[in-house]
Amino acid sequence: MSCVGAARCEQSCANEHAIQRHLVNTFTDDVHRPALPYKFKFKVSGCPNDCQNAIERSDFAVIGTWRDDMKIDQAEIKAFIDKKGRQYVIDNVTSRCPSNCMTLNDDDTLDVDNHNCVRCMHCLNVMPKALSPGDDKGVTLLIGGKRTLKIGDLMGTVIVPFIKLETADDYEKLVDLASETIDFFAENALEHERTGEMIERIGLVNFLEGIGVEVDPNMVSHPRQSSYIRMDGWDEEAEKWFQRKAEAAAS
Ligand code: SF4
Ligand code: SF4
Repeated sequence: MSCVGAARCEQSCANEHAIQRHLVNTFTDDVHRPALPYKFKFKVSGCPNDCQNAIERSDFAVIGTWRDDMKIDQAEIKAFIDKKGRQYVIDNVTSRCPSNCMTLNDDDTLDVDNHNCVRCMHCLNVMPKALSPGDDKGVTLLIGGKRTLKIGDLMGTVIVPFIKLETADDYEKLVDLASETIDFFAENALEHERTGEMIERIGLVNFLEGIGVEVDPNMVSHPRQSSYIRMDGWDEEAEKWFQRKAEAAAS
């Protein structure tokens, strides 16, 4: 499933329908559940508002986001304050920012500390004319969300913090990861077990090794919690991490 996204929604950071089309076209043969241990759902939401409830209700969630600074139209900020009042903006926008990263200045301009913005979408939803997602758009991929079954409700874990989806190669990477995930699920899940339950049972590290994804400290399991605090082999893993960062910077 996919939200209406870019077709009608100003918050969209992705081409939801292209994503859905690529996935449906690739996995049509897997639509019949008996071929797999149990159901496997894809959901696509164009922005972190997640109107599809993809994080909670899909095994493989694709959620649009941006990694540069959000866009601020200071004239629209002033117009909003003129209409609603300064106190309204303080009570309903800046003081409700979960990471406290917005400042309303004396001259009625707004500053955002983008490095600390967690893309919760609250301010953009309240002031859609003044604030909008940045230009460097892409998606975050989360795996393992589901409602209650063998174990209680699970939200998806961030497996790929950010990936651009612009070229045919980008879409191929997405489909390849989905394909690896479904293959691993088909081979390793117990009867009537969802992907998230399988991951809980075998451990996230084993799952990542199985689908060929490198561990990354940006893989969030709960808000403000990294999935990975590994103390075994710490120095070697840290060395690998810095090496990968240096290689990425050089390329
Ligand atoms: S998830 Fe975001 S892009 Fe999709 S409909 Fe909701 S607000 Fe719009
Ligand atoms: S999107 Fe959320 S975290 Fe980011 S500045 Fe707005 S309210 Fe704060």
